[in-house]
Amino acid sequence: MTKDKEKSVKEIICGIDLGTTNSCISYLKDGKPVVVSVEGTSAIMPSVVSYDEKTKQIIVGKEALNRLAAFPHHTVRSIKRLMGKDTKVHLGKQVYSPEEVSSFILQSLAEKAANITGALIKKAVITVPAYFNDAQRRATIAAGELAGLEVLRIINEPTAASLIYDYVSKKEQLSTPYILVYDLGGGTFDVSILEIKGEIKEVLASCGDTALGGDDFDERLVDLFLRNIKEKTGLDFTTDNRVLHVRLKDIAERTKISLSDNPYIVVKEASILTHNGEPINLDIEVTRKEYEEMIADLVNKTVEKVKEALTEAHLTSRDIAEVLLVGGSTRTPMVQEVLAGMFDIPMYHSVDPDLCVSLGAAVQSGLITGEPLGHILLDVTAHSLGVKTADNFDYVTGDADYFSVIIKRNTKVPVRRAELYFTMVNEQEAVKVEVYQGESYSCKENTLIGDFIFKLQPSPTGSPIVTEFSYDKEGIVHVLVEQKGYNNHKEVTLDVRTRKVKDKEISTDDQRILNYIVEKYRQMLNKDGLSEGVKNDLLAIGQEYEEALRTGKPDDIIDDLEARLLEKIEEAEEEFE
Ligand code: AMP
Repeated sequence: MTKDKEKSVKEIICGIDLGTTNSCISYLKDGKPVVVSVEGTSAIMPSVVSYDEKTKQIIVGKEALNRLAAFPHHTVRSIKRLMGKDTKVHLGKQVYSPEEVSSFILQSLAEKAANITGALIKKAVITVPAYFNDAQRRATIAAGELAGLEVLRIINEPTAASLIYDYVSKKEQLSTPYILVYDLGGGTFDVSILEIKGEIKEVLASCGDTALGGDDFDERLVDLFLRNIKEKTGLDFTTDNRVLHVRLKDIAERTKISLSDNPYIVVKEASILTHNGEPINLDIEVTRKEYEEMIADLVNKTVEKVKEALTEAHLTSRDIAEVLLVGGSTRTPMVQEVLAGMFDIPMYHSVDPDLCVSLGAAVQSGLITGEPLGHILLDVTAHSLGVKTADNFDYVTGDADYFSVIIKRNTKVPVRRAELYFTMVNEQEAVKVEVYQGESYSCKENTLIGDFIFKLQPSPTGSPIVTEFSYDKEGIVHVLVEQKGYNNHKEVTLDVRTRKVKDKEISTDDQRILNYIVEKYRQMLNKDGLSEGVKNDLLAIGQEYEEALRTGKPDDIIDDLEARLLEKIEEAEEEFE
């Protein structure tokens, strides 16, 4: 495309629901959010990625899902569960990070949507579960950037769903100002309570479980099938048969979906595998009642979280005027019945539960670009944020493990809070600032989201050090430490998009930062318009650096290469400033 042609193409900003099971992309058309049917007539694209050894191509969506049973070692689903984790995914011989796999999904959505709408798509708002921690949010931003998208904002899924509320609510007037968003998807569960004050929607409380969803419902049915096979044949396939597991999971999901509409279903699947040349069939009747008994504890887990959210919002179930059901698993009748009983209000889907998150993200994009949509959004932090201190110093082990909270969970964002700490010895040389997220008093039980060394000027015991934290609107963390009374401070932004994180003192041994550098370098390499000279230098140093990491070269060599690579990345970035 020539520059002139590019100019004449309309640019749209998308809202993307990057789901565990399915993903969706929407945009604002004449001020109204609409989804794009990226999979034929359907707007729902399975979040599945596969690598085709023959064509050496990445395949995404329904086509990838279709390959799952035949090529389970080349195909991955539910990658969202691995986001923020320092792990690798193997698609045949190819090895990818969870961010890279997610970036394939995002890229595919954006490309398909661009083809269908004929518009240019370079910017997006991406949603994450409210309960995602900092590392998971940062990984999502990294995935967006790897997909070539500028991530304008990361917003919480229930918040996005609430934004769509005004477009769909049939009620003129709510009986109370409180609505509850119950979001049960394939892999995650979120519950949020919002207060509607005219145009303003305020999130009062938000909690959930990043490892609870419809996939777990499916697993209960897989267990049932395996038990049934064992009873009939004496063969135990509970472990070590990935191909069978993929097939059974698929059958389980279909069974589950059928049970949402039928009181029972007869599962008849011929030759699900062969043993000593003999086919093994699946032939079992499952009633909805049996299925509900199997999943009751999982549904109860969500109810406990709902109660937790109510307590945190200082409300009771009677204060809730409406429950917004989000996520495919809310189609499960038992889920709706339990909630209807709890809130004493009828449950229904006021908007397609698979689409409302991405539609809401599109509304958010309109808010950012200034479309007159009339929403003002106040969000809250999903986790308490703080630092490790020596308050509970263990004189036997020498361990300090006390989690000192600076920003409490469910605090409105953006927020900035500071706390005062004191040096422990005379002329202390430095403090190690370890930033945690979580709700336990013990740091060990919380999530370390970053650490760094702050060098001190000589000062007496008990000298004050101010630690200031801020959460920005994306839920990303900025830390400022200051030695009070001395002109000595240090600012660290635990945000993949800023350059601050390149400060080596943050934590050279932190794998996530190493990953960040590698990703940043790869991303730079792929940027259009980078001059040939810088590109070649970047490639040479980057490859040397990756090789050094892979072969476990000594720290001083890695440090040196890292510094050189960061310098080159900076040089490359300057070309775009
Ligand atoms: P989401 O992550 O919101 O796309 O939700 C996907 C989850 O919803 C998957 O676990 C699906 O199996 C599940 N799901 C979709 N339709 C139904 C249905 N009719 N009944 C029960 N679960 C469903």
